[in-house]
Amino acid sequence: MAVAVAAAAVAGAGKPRPRAPRALLGLPEVHIQTRGSTHSSSGSVPVRASVRLERPDAASGLRPRWPYAISIVAVHLLALLACWPTLFTWSGLVVCVAGLYVFGTLGINLGFHRLLTHRSFACPRWVERAVAILGVCCLQEGPARWVAIHRKHHQHSDEQPDPHSPLVAFIWGHVGWLMIENRETDSFHILHRYSKDLVSQPFYLRLERRLNWLWIYLLHAIAFGLVAFVIGVAISHPTTSRGSAWLGVDWLEAARFAASVVVWGVLVRTVLVWHITWSVNSLSHLFGYRTHLNTGENSRNNWFVALISNGEGWHNNHHADQCSAAHGHRWFELDVTYWTILLLERVGLARTVKRPGRTATIQNP
Ligand SMILES: [Zn+2]
Ligand SMILES: [Zn+2]
Repeated sequence: MAVAVAAAAVAGAGKPRPRAPRALLGLPEVHIQTRGSTHSSSGSVPVRASVRLERPDAASGLRPRWPYAISIVAVHLLALLACWPTLFTWSGLVVCVAGLYVFGTLGINLGFHRLLTHRSFACPRWVERAVAILGVCCLQEGPARWVAIHRKHHQHSDEQPDPHSPLVAFIWGHVGWLMIENRETDSFHILHRYSKDLVSQPFYLRLERRLNWLWIYLLHAIAFGLVAFVIGVAISHPTTSRGSAWLGVDWLEAARFAASVVVWGVLVRTVLVWHITWSVNSLSHLFGYRTHLNTGENSRNNWFVALISNGEGWHNNHHADQCSAAHGHRWFELDVTYWTILLLERVGLARTVKRPGRTATIQNP
C-alpha cells in the first residue's frame, strides 16, 4: 500500500488515485477494460528519486540466474566484435538495420506485444505464427513466457510483484530483473496463470519445451552465416596475390563477409533490440510526459524510446488503453508499428484492429 501511495505521489496526483482497471489479458472470464483513462489531461511530472520499490518477494534472494546472466554478457561481448574494422561491411550494417524492423518491430512489438499479449488485432494463423517466430529470433524468451511476464507487469505495474519496475532501480527495470532468479516468472505455473491461451496450443507449448525457442534463435544465426557465406562465395573476386583464393573463389573473403553479417545482422541487432525493449520497461516508466494521469502507475510517453522502438515508447497511452493497436494517440506520436498493422489490414492480413479510446472486451481465445 505504501508503494501504491508513493507511486501516486510520483505521478503528481498529490493523493492516492483510484487505480485504472488492470488488464488480465488472456485470462479466463476476464473482461478487459481497455479504456484505462476516462479522464485525460496533459502534463509532465518529474520522478522523485526518493520513491523506491522493493524487488518482488520471489526475487528477494538475489540468486543469479546464471544462464541468462552469462548469455546476456556473452552476447554483448561478442557484439563488440563489430568494433573490429575487418568485420565491418556495408551489407552487414544494412542487414542489422533491416533486422531491427523485421525482428524487433514485427517480431516483438507487433507479434509478441500487440498481437499475442493484448490481441489488439486479429490475423490469419500463419501470420501470427510467422511474427511469433520472428520474435523468437530476438532471444527474449519464448512467446508464452514473454506474454505471461508482460501481462503480469500490466496487472501489477510499479507495485509488488511487478517483475521489472524501474522504481526498484533503473538498472533493475532495464536488465537486472533478467539476471536474478524470480520464483514466479521462472516457473511453469506462470504460463498457466497468464498465458493459458497460448500454452493450450501445441505450437506455443512446443516452443517453451526443451528450450526450443533458444534452438530456433541459434539456428537462425547459423542460417544467416550460411546464406551470407554462399553470397560471399558468389560475389568473390579472387586476386592471384591472395593465398586464400582457390578454385576461383577467395574463401577467406567469403568467410569474412559471412562473419560480418552474423556479427552485425545477428549479434549487434540482438543487443540493440534487447536494449530497445528494455528501455520501454525502464525509461518509459521513469521519464516523459503523462497524457493519462489516472493509470495508477508511473508509465510515461517517452519520445526517445518511441522513436527507437517504432512506437512502443508511448507507454502511458498504452497503459491507459492496453488493447488499442495504436500506442501513439496524437498526431505527433509517431507509431510505425501501428502503421504496419494498418498496412496489414489494408492488404487483408489483419482485421478487427482496435482503435484508441474504445472499450474492448476480449474473451479468452
Ligand atoms: Zn503491454
Ligand atoms: Zn509498462
